[in-house]
Order: sequence, then C-alpha cells, then structure tokens
Amino acid sequence: MEFLTSPTQQFDLPKRIERLGELATNLWWTWHPEASHLFGRLDYDLWERLGHNPIRLLNEVGRARLNQVANDREYLEHYDELFKGFDAYFTKESWSQKNQKDLKKPVAYFSMEYGLHETLPIYSGGLGVLSGDHLKEASDLGLPFIAVGFMYAQGYFSQRITEDGWQEAVNNPLKFEHLPVSLVKKNAKPVTISFDLPDRRLTAQIWEVRVGRVPLYLLDSNLEGNDDYDRLLTARLYWSDLDRRVMQEVLLGIGGVRALRALGYDPAVWHMNEGHASFLTLERIRELVAGGFAFADAAEKTRPQNIFTTHTPVPAGNDEFPLWLIDKYLANYWGELGLTREQFVEVAKQQHPHGETYSMPVLALKLSGSSNGVSELHGEVSRDMWKFLWSDRDVKDVPIQHVTNGVHTRNWLARRMNILLEKYLGADWYDNLDDRRLIEKIDQIPDKELWEVHLHLKRKMAFYLTERVRDRWTHGGFHPVQVIASGVLINPYALTIGFARRFATYKRASIILSDVERLLELINRPNHPVQIIFAGKAHPADDPGKKLIQQVYRTVKKAETGGRIVFLEDYDMNLARYLVQGVDVWMNTPRRPYEASGTSGMKAAINGVPNFSILDGWWREAYNGRNGWAIGEEKEYESTEAQDAADAESLYSTLEHQIIPKFYDRDPKERSSAWIAFMKSSMKTVIPQFSTRRMVKEYVEKFYLPALAGEAHEAPDYQGLKNAA
Ligand SMILES: *Cc1c(COP(=O)(O)O)cnc(C)c1O
Repeated sequence: MEFLTSPTQQFDLPKRIERLGELATNLWWTWHPEASHLFGRLDYDLWERLGHNPIRLLNEVGRARLNQVANDREYLEHYDELFKGFDAYFTKESWSQKNQKDLKKPVAYFSMEYGLHETLPIYSGGLGVLSGDHLKEASDLGLPFIAVGFMYAQGYFSQRITEDGWQEAVNNPLKFEHLPVSLVKKNAKPVTISFDLPDRRLTAQIWEVRVGRVPLYLLDSNLEGNDDYDRLLTARLYWSDLDRRVMQEVLLGIGGVRALRALGYDPAVWHMNEGHASFLTLERIRELVAGGFAFADAAEKTRPQNIFTTHTPVPAGNDEFPLWLIDKYLANYWGELGLTREQFVEVAKQQHPHGETYSMPVLALKLSGSSNGVSELHGEVSRDMWKFLWSDRDVKDVPIQHVTNGVHTRNWLARRMNILLEKYLGADWYDNLDDRRLIEKIDQIPDKELWEVHLHLKRKMAFYLTERVRDRWTHGGFHPVQVIASGVLINPYALTIGFARRFATYKRASIILSDVERLLELINRPNHPVQIIFAGKAHPADDPGKKLIQQVYRTVKKAETGGRIVFLEDYDMNLARYLVQGVDVWMNTPRRPYEASGTSGMKAAINGVPNFSILDGWWREAYNGRNGWAIGEEKEYESTEAQDAADAESLYSTLEHQIIPKFYDRDPKERSSAWIAFMKSSMKTVIPQFSTRRMVKEYVEKFYLPALAGEAHEAPDYQGLKNAA
C-alpha cells in the first residue's frame, strides 16, 4: 500500500529477541496475558513502575538485561512459543473467512472513545471499554473491520482524592513516542483531512493503532495551520463547553468519513457507537449529492448501511445542540447537501417545551437502516423514549432492537483462571467459548482448585493495593488516614465486596451507606468480617458526582469501619482488572432503568465472582437465583426516594441473611461449597452469553449482513427529507 505509517518508536534489541518491538506496537499483546508475562519477565519492578508500557520497558530496561534474556533458554522457549501463537493468529483461517464470505468490504466503526489498555488513556469509562472490546473481538473473528476515534493529546485525567475526599483532576500530556501509535503518511507527508467552517478551515492528521488485525484511526487537530482554539479540540475527552463539543462531533462524523476516504477505504457498513458520530450520515449523503443526487434520494440510498447503537436511557444524557451553534459551525454545510437551513434543522430537530434543539440521536435514528439499545430492557426504554419519531406506530413496533453488551473474555479473564479452564475444558476451549455445552464442564473443576486460583487472585489484589499506597506515602503529601482509606488493612481472607464505576448520581454509590450504623454493625461482626472496596471517577464538571465521592470518602475515614471500607484512587482498566478478578462479590446499585447495560459485572462473573445487583441492564437477563443476588424488585415506584429506600432495605437484608451466611458457611479453614457453586454458576451463565464473541456475532447476523443486503427498517416520518426531495 502506498500509505506508510511511520513508527514513532525505535528499538535497539538483540537480534534473537528483536520481535519484541513488533509485539510492543500491536495491542494484540494486551489481551494475551502470556505476552504481557513475556514483557514482565524482563523486569517485573520496572514493568509495574512504567504502568505496563512495553515500549518504554524495551527502551529503559537496559542492554545488559536484554542480552541476558537473549541467551536464557527458558525465556527463549517462552518467546518462541508466544510468537508461534502470534503468527498463527494472523495467518490461520478466521471465523469470518470461513463463515462470512460475503463480508469483504470493511465495517467502519465510529466511537468517541476506546478503552484498549491503561497506557492509552483515550477512554473515560464503560462506553470506551465496550468499543475497545468490540475491536479486539472483531480482530479475533477476523472480520474486515476498521475504526475511527480521537487521539486525545492529554488523555483522560488521573484522579487524586484530597484528605477531605474531594476529587482533583491531574492532566497527563501524552508522549506519543511512548505509545503504540504511528502517524499516517503518504509520500512522506502526513495525510490530513479538513472541514471548512464558516470563517476558517479545520484540519486534522491521522494516527494509526494496530489492534490485532484491526486498524484504528485516531484524528488529531493539534496542527500548526489550525488556530489555537481548534488545536485543543482533540486535547481531551468530552469538553463540557458545547462549542467544542459540537466541533468534536463534526470532526468525528464528517472528518472521520473523510479520513477513511483519504486512506482509500470503501466501507460496506457504518456503525455509530452512540450519537456522537451521527454527522457521518450527512457526510455520506453529501458525497452522493456532490455526484448529482437529490438529498432525499441520497439519504434513502445510504441509509441501509448505517447502524446506530444508543447507550443512553435518560433523555438528558443525549447530545443535543442549540440551533445557534449549528449555524455557527455548519452554515456552509447545508448548501452542500442541497438543503435550506430549515430543511437541515428539520432532519435532526427535537421539540422541547423551551424550544427546538438539534439532536444527535434523532439524526442517527432517522438516517440509519437499523438501530439498537444495549440490553433487552434498554431496548424497551429506547423504543418508548423515541416513539415520537414513529408517531403512527405502537410503541412495541418502534424499530429499535437490542443487542446486549458483552466483554472480551481473554482481555478480562485472569491468566491463572484461563490455565484452569484449559485444564478442564480443553486447550482450545477459548475458540468455542460461546458453546454452552462445553462451558458446562466448569462443573467438573474440583472446588479446591477453583478456590485456590480465586484466593491467589485475592491476595494478588491485596498486595497490589498495599504497593500502590506505599508509593503514594513515600512520595509525600499523603495523610496517614488516607493510607488506611486506600486499603492497607484489607484482609485477603475476609468477604470482600467490590463497587467500582463512574460516579454518576444515578449509579447511587452511596446506597449502601444510607444507614451507616446498620452497615458498621454488619461488617464488624466477630468472625464474619465484610470489606467493601469503592473506586471510580466523576466527570471533572460533575459536582454532584464529586460530592458523592466525598460522602463515601468521609465514611471510609471513620475509625469505626476498622479499615474495612476503602476508596481507591484513579479507577482505570488496570485497577478494574485487579478488582474484577480479586473480590468475592461484585455490587451494582443503579437506579433502575438507568443502567443501559453495564459490563463490569460481566468481567467479575467470568472470573467466578457472583454479582449482587439491581435487576437492570444486563443483570436482569443473567440473574438466575444461583449465580448471584438481586437487589430490589422489578417494579415502578411513585418516587425516587421510595425506590432508593426500598432498594437499600433489600440490599442490607440480602447481605445479612444470604450473602454473609453463605460465604462463612464452613469451618474457618475450609471453603464453602455452596459459595463455590455460585462461583461456577456465574462463570457458566456469563462466559458464553455475555461475551463480545456472542455480541459481535449478533451484530454481524442481525445488522451487518442485512446492511450488506440493503435491508433497512422503515424510516420515521420525517418531513424534512420528504420536503427536500
Ligand atoms: C468495565 C469498565 C467500566 C464499565 O463499568 P460499568 O459498571 O459497566 O459502568 C468503566 N470503567 C472501567 C475502567 C472499566 O474497565
């Protein structure tokens, strides 16, 4: 190909192990624990200190150590075995090549964030981790797949908690030479795309990240020709200032299509992960209008190939812009679509009591051939929320379907757990992880062996927490009470509950603290101690979210907790991995039905950690009475206060009468077999069904193939288009 990506990283490695450089620059290594193990073996201490960054590790570990391992038989055996697997991955016939011969042209996937690894902090939470897992699975399945997002120069912030529990945001400008990104060039010059705003031109360059077989293209507006304001456009995730936000979305949707064209792609399917990318629908229409089509004809022609996945169950969570902002940035654009301003606005208009807005989900829903929510209940909620667009239809006939989210199994499954599954399910179990009959064999794992792996992971988590605190303490500015609050008193043999996620108010992190006295009595009972680990960031502009963290932190600091309730700073994919693999119970308390799906509980369950959650999102589909516990009931309440009170009562009594007795139902040295039955049931129900394997195959069958065939659900009755025809 005439396009060259120029590697930013250079390595000076002994010839015998020079492919470590290749491994470090393809994120394939991030979901193959044997590969990170191969890096770690070079120098575990340095590997941890560098935050699992193989590019830095290879540059900083020193020539002497590299020469040493290049002559170490055991290391070289591991190395050779690993690269055998690496090469086989890229050459063996994939699921897609075998079963989906019609899929030749790529599926293009657009998302505002990608959670691929903690060293590439271009994600904020669940949406990003879902996109990252989607790419990893698309690569595993061998789908022709490409993706578009942003290269955020400052990444997502790191979280510090002050002694009084207030969240502080630390920005970390990224050093691109330390990251697995390469600038895309043609004829030795960076490939750029641009968009003409009414008063200036916005230009962006393109970085490429290799995710196994899938290329991810990241737009970057930090270019000299741009004005200073525009250069900051891709500096951070989710600017709260609407000006920047609308420009980001123009760049993602319109700029993203232009970037793929500049790279010579002709995608067969365009998948929008959330409404941030909705402008891509207009850009595809513009391409046809430029070739002589009328707007309405171009819309009908392009619509079947657009797929829209919504993640937002609350109207206020959707992106909408005031019309003056649309005028400010898109005044050149409607003419290119052959539309007047009124027609242009009509396509995405949402009517509110206070006036009209330009709604990104409305735009996507109108111009997509199919749309979906991310769990069964969220599908229902979405049909109800958007039924006004199909005013002649019954709510159940609103054409918004659902595909329940999943997690990338190998990415989240502990290495030791994978070894155990290989032993009892077969060395190739992973290739068939969505085969329920195979996964039933988990019952054959001896309780003792499963419990030993679990205990190992729990101790590993506790050890990791202590080392993190040591580091914070040593560097100064950390109060002793913060040392306790960060988990140094955690006992790896006590029942441990994990609660980690974004601190948004609907997630109700403080429900378990609603009756602190009752909680303290429960967790401090002699011989039956209970520990609770909290972690999570609030959006920097979300003061209610930050106050929630503070409320939790103030409780955590009370001496009466005995150091058994802790709050860990800086929740990211790395900390998530330790927690979902190392706690005994995963808790989630969203206000139903606001958790569209949730995925962290799936990561826990596949590692044998039962869930204890509100019957919302994915858990409503997975809960069977033997794989965890439900909080609250499936009903509507007259007020949120009543709902919160009922859920809190259910939480305390389930904890007291079911979870604690089951965990401690044993003599002190033995394990509880009733508990282990719950662990196994979690794994058996969640591994096959709530994996990206099942999820991506479902997208292929329900959406990608019909899109190829030109099928589309009925468009909503949108006046704007019909007038424009
Ligand atoms: C999985 C994950 C999430 C999503 O968690 P939910 O409980 O589904 O909201 C958020 N952040 C990180 C770092 C994750 O790994």
